[in-house]
Amino acid sequence: MKTKRVAVLGSTGSIGLSTLDVLARHPERYRVTALAAHSNVSRLQEQCLAHRPRYAVVVDAAAGAQLARELRRAGSSTEVLIGEQALSDVAAHDEVDVVMAAIVGAAGLASSLAAARAGKRILLANKEALVMSGPLFMAAVREGGATLIPVDSEHNAIFQCMGADRVAATPGDESGSGALRGCGVRRVLLTASGGPFLRTPLEALREVTPEQACAHPRWVMGRKISVDSATLMNKGLELIEACLLFALPPSQVQVVVHPQSIVHSMVEYVDGSVLAQLGNPDMRTPIAHALGWPERLASGVESLDIVGAARLDFEAPDIERFPCLRLARAAAEAGGAAPAALNACNEVAVAAFLERRLAFLEIAEVIERVMARHRTAPAATLRDVLEADAWARREAQAEVAARAGVFA
Ligand code: NAD
Ligand code: MG
Repeated sequence: MKTKRVAVLGSTGSIGLSTLDVLARHPERYRVTALAAHSNVSRLQEQCLAHRPRYAVVVDAAAGAQLARELRRAGSSTEVLIGEQALSDVAAHDEVDVVMAAIVGAAGLASSLAAARAGKRILLANKEALVMSGPLFMAAVREGGATLIPVDSEHNAIFQCMGADRVAATPGDESGSGALRGCGVRRVLLTASGGPFLRTPLEALREVTPEQACAHPRWVMGRKISVDSATLMNKGLELIEACLLFALPPSQVQVVVHPQSIVHSMVEYVDGSVLAQLGNPDMRTPIAHALGWPERLASGVESLDIVGAARLDFEAPDIERFPCLRLARAAAEAGGAAPAALNACNEVAVAAFLERRLAFLEIAEVIERVMARHRTAPAATLRDVLEADAWARREAQAEVAARAGVFA
């Protein structure tokens, strides 16, 4: 068996750490060729010494120079590459077979696209890249001959429930939902934990802090996706992600709140069968699945104690308290550059909330106001996508500045 060479983009983050944990369990199958992160030198240094990659990419120049000095002192032969362009360079590098795309937000777009164009096996955690560039991204996967496997736990679950032959025909299939109907899929049930504020009354949501928003009851994740989970924008982005990955119209994706986070999503077929994928809420399961597919790899995740779990609850989401879900569905239906604009507004609003410049409920208000001014435009080229992103960022910054409160 040939050893697969893996680049982990976003290696210092939550998904990056889980990925390296799974890879370290299979040294005979995988070799870490490149690690990449924004600026966390101490963690990246530790990872370089443990995994001995050929390349380490650091986007921040000062942090990169520091890492290079530290690695030289430690006698490491890892070459440090600095700057944004190096992310795309390693993603498309000849010495890389598999790319874990785990950078958070729009910052991961260029490198994820580069991996797609270069025909890599892409393990996609960076949902924002796909949401922004949708059809363009899927076309790059198809034209580049890449294999796109979702790591987001819900989409990985859907991938598993659709069966390999159906899925293989699905990503980027131009015949759209017709292809899925041909497979007998009636709809997808996208599960949501409901986040830390599932039972918090609307009034109390006005006062919640970044610390409360980041304390997710089921998953340990980076701060941006934790806030997205608290507003349910994460599920909104995932709705758009599911439509793109599985060629479904938004009307065929239903969001279901499932507080235990044991069922990771379901697929319903025309005969009434509903297939679900279950497991402990630990990202090492979808990561190991995406790495090994079509084979199965040990992930280090404990067996599910289904008797201990005792019950699985399902309920409808509350759109009144979580308007982000409605805003994302509208962007999914509008298509074109609307998802890119939605994602950009959300990134700006979430960053402002984390910096205490915006209240929790204002995240959705900012997005709603900007999206009401967004004129539907096609997203046929990367330039269209980047223009929509830049426009929405400017508009959202102005909305945030106009509120300019200081909170908690
Ligand atoms: P995180 O904040 O823990 O880590 C983010 C990583 O991206 C870090 O390595 C950081 O250095 C890197 N990064 C940030 N800005 C960068 C930039 N400008 N240039 C280069 N690198 C940059 O985030 P996370 O929770 O690991 O999430 C990563 C992605 O995976 C997100 O898109 C998220 O939506 C998705 N995801 C995460 C989880 C989870 O459980 N954490 C689950 C599903 C999907
Ligand atoms: Mg998810």
